[in-house]
Amino acid sequence: MEQNQSYNVKFFSGEEIPLELHKVRIVQKLNLIPIEERLKAAVEGGFNTFLLTTKTVYLDMLTDSGTNAMSDNQVASMLRADDAYAGSQSYARLEEAIKEVFNCKYYLPVHQGRAAENIISKVFIKPGDVVPMNYHFTTTKAHIELNGGTIFEIYTDEALKVKSQHPFKGNLDIAKLNDIIKKYGASRVAYIRLEASTNLIGGQPFSIANMREVRKVANEHGIIIVLDASLIGENAYFIKQREAEFKNKSIKEILHEMIGLADLTYFSSRKVSSTRGGGICTNNLQLHNRMRDLIPLFEGFYTYGGMSIREVEAMAVGLAETLDDTVISQSPSFIRFMVNELDKLGVPVVTPAGGLGVHIDAGTFLSHVPQSQYPAGALAAAFFIVSGVRGMERGTISSVRDANGNDVLADIELLRLAMPRRVFTLSQVKYAIDRLHWLYRNRELVGGLKFYEEPPVLRFFGGKLEPTSPWPEKLVAKFRADFGDSL
Ligand SMILES: *Cc1c(COP(=O)(O)O)cnc(C)c1O
Repeated sequence: MEQNQSYNVKFFSGEEIPLELHKVRIVQKLNLIPIEERLKAAVEGGFNTFLLTTKTVYLDMLTDSGTNAMSDNQVASMLRADDAYAGSQSYARLEEAIKEVFNCKYYLPVHQGRAAENIISKVFIKPGDVVPMNYHFTTTKAHIELNGGTIFEIYTDEALKVKSQHPFKGNLDIAKLNDIIKKYGASRVAYIRLEASTNLIGGQPFSIANMREVRKVANEHGIIIVLDASLIGENAYFIKQREAEFKNKSIKEILHEMIGLADLTYFSSRKVSSTRGGGICTNNLQLHNRMRDLIPLFEGFYTYGGMSIREVEAMAVGLAETLDDTVISQSPSFIRFMVNELDKLGVPVVTPAGGLGVHIDAGTFLSHVPQSQYPAGALAAAFFIVSGVRGMERGTISSVRDANGNDVLADIELLRLAMPRRVFTLSQVKYAIDRLHWLYRNRELVGGLKFYEEPPVLRFFGGKLEPTSPWPEKLVAKFRADFGDSL
C-alpha cells in the first residue's frame, strides 16, 4: 500500500531500513542501569512512568511533546532573537512562517497546545453544546467539558481495530455526524473537531477526501470546523503516501489543502516544531477577533503569547522545516520499521503504522490481566523494568471514573512508545524491539496494578499504583536467568 520514500534505502543484502538524513553533533549521555535498580525506581514512581526521573530511564519514549531534536538552524536562530515585549522582529518572522506553512493570515500565539484548547473552548462552547470529533485528546476533552460541552467520538468502524490495513483510520464517520446534527440541532454543535494523526488511537491519519465530506456537511449547517494540527506534518506525509490524488503534491500543498478546509486551526508547537509554544490560526477575521482579547489575559502579549522569544524564533524555523520531506518522513519511517519488526515477531501492535509512535496492543499482549487491573499501565511498567525504555499508558488509567466512582474502561488498551523526531538511532530502536519481544515471550509473568493514590482529574499524570501480586520480582528473576549479568 505504501510508497517507498527516498528515506528508505534498499541494502545489497535485500534488507530495507530507514536511513538517517542528519548527523549527530550534540549528544546527551544516557544511563542504562541494572534491572534491580529500575524495579526500585518503578516502585518509587508508583508504577506510573510519568513519575520516573530520567536518571533511571534509558530511552525516553514517553512522548513526542517537546522532545524532538532541534536542527542546527533552529539553535542558530535562537541567538538572533529580538527580545522585545511588544512588536518583536522574532514574532514578525514567526507570522511569516505561519503564512508560508499554514497559509493563514491571522495567528494568535499561545504557550502550548492545551492553552489554545482553553481559549477555543471558552469562546465557542456554551453549556449544553456538543462537539463531534474523530477522537478525543486528553486535554481537549477536559477543556471542552470544563466549559459545559459534551464530546462525541464518531470514528469509523475501522478506527479501533488493532490489526487493520485501512490507510485512514482517523477518518470521521459522516453518517454519524449527520445523526448528531439531526439529534441536537446545528445550533448546539459548537464546532466539528478533526484531529490530525489521531493521537490516542495510534497516530492514525484522516484523508482529504474525508475532510472534504466533513466540509460539505459543515457548510450545509453553518457549523465551523476546528482542526487540531498538533501532528499535522505526519498526517500530510501519510496523505502523500496513501491518497492517490496527492502522490505528486508537495507537503506544503497538502498542508494548505487541509488547513483551507478548516475554519480554525490550532497546534502544539511542542509536536510540530520541536519547541514549546503553539497557536491558533485562521483566515476568518471575525473568528480571530472573538479570541484575540483572551491572549493577553491567559497567555501573554500578542507578540509572544507565553513563549520566550528564543522559542518564537526556533518555532518559525521549525515550522518551515516541516515542509522538508526528509524531516517529516524520519519519524514515520522509524515507526514503520519498528511496527513491521514487532509484527513479524508476533508482538501485538497496531497496524498500519501511524505517526507519533508505536502502539502496542496491551489488551492482547496481557490478555490474562483483567481490564480493571489496567493492562496498558502494567505493560508500561513491566517494559520499563525489563528495558529502561519509558513508554506511556494509553488505556483505562488515561480515562476517568464515572459519577458513581466506577472505572470507565477504555476502548483499547495501548502502550504508546513515542518516536520523537531524529532522536534515536536504529540500534536503540532494535534494542527496544528485542526487549519487547523477550517480554512478550514471558508475558504470563506480568500481572495487574491497582491505585493507592488517585487524583480526581487527569489521574494518569500523578496517580500512584502498586502491583496486585509480587509479579515484578518474578520478572526480574527471569530476566537474570535469561540474560545473566547483562544490563
Ligand atoms: C499534545 C497534543 C495536544 C496538547 O498540546 P500541549 O502542547 O502538550 O499542551 C493537543 N492535541 C493533540 C492532538 C496533541 O497531540
